[in-house]
Amino acid sequence: MNVPSATDETVAPDGHETVVVLVPVAPGLDDDATRRAAFRDQILDDLERHTGVDLRDRIVVEREASVSTFADRFALPEGTALGLAHTLRQTGPLRPSRRGGVDGLYYTGAFTGPGIGVPMALLSGEQTADAVVEDAGGSRLPRVARSLAAVASFDGGFRP
Ligand SMILES: Cc1cc2nc3c(=O)[nH]c(=O)nc-3n(C[C@H](O)[C@H](O)[C@H](O)COP(=O)(O)OP(=O)(O)OC[C@H]3O[C@@H](n4cnc5c(N)ncnc54)[C@H](O)[C@@H]3O)c2cc1C
Repeated sequence: MNVPSATDETVAPDGHETVVVLVPVAPGLDDDATRRAAFRDQILDDLERHTGVDLRDRIVVEREASVSTFADRFALPEGTALGLAHTLRQTGPLRPSRRGGVDGLYYTGAFTGPGIGVPMALLSGEQTADAVVEDAGGSRLPRVARSLAAVASFDGGFRP
């Protein structure tokens, strides 16, 4: 749960708050109106139980996005919000290639390498740009230099 208006007064009118609740669910779920309503009730009940505040009467504007929203609006398979899962056969070199199999066609983002999530999608953009440069006869040097710089700056520690 995030309340961005707690630190940014521009995201809600005076006297109001913006509240974002993110509920992780699996892709491919049947999220019909009944199930969405049940989730909504559960979320509001949980919030009330943990904070003592019932938000129901205070909601002025409400937007929701769920599995079918991601499927219908963004044509994402099974409505996944993240991208191609990191299952064994979809990991590392087994993910779909960034080279599309047709001259001049390249893929980038969470459905190709290196993986899902914003940092991975950003890396994917870099790697695909490098692939375009390489295929056009350019140098691999920028990519190698970046990898070496990343290794040099890695401090080895996992953080909690
Ligand atoms: C609610 C939510 C929370 C998340 N939280 C996190 C998090 O905390 N940390 C994290 O690392 N990742 C998080 N993710 C996942 C992360 O957002 C994605 O993995 C990442 O954005 C994928 O990047 P992408 O560039 O592949 O695709 P997207 O970011 O989905 O970009 C695809 C773009 O293509 C556009 N598009 C689609 N079809 C067309 C078309 N036909 N023509 C033109 N444009 C088109 C879309 O509008 C979109 O702008 C979250 C995702 C969601 C939905």
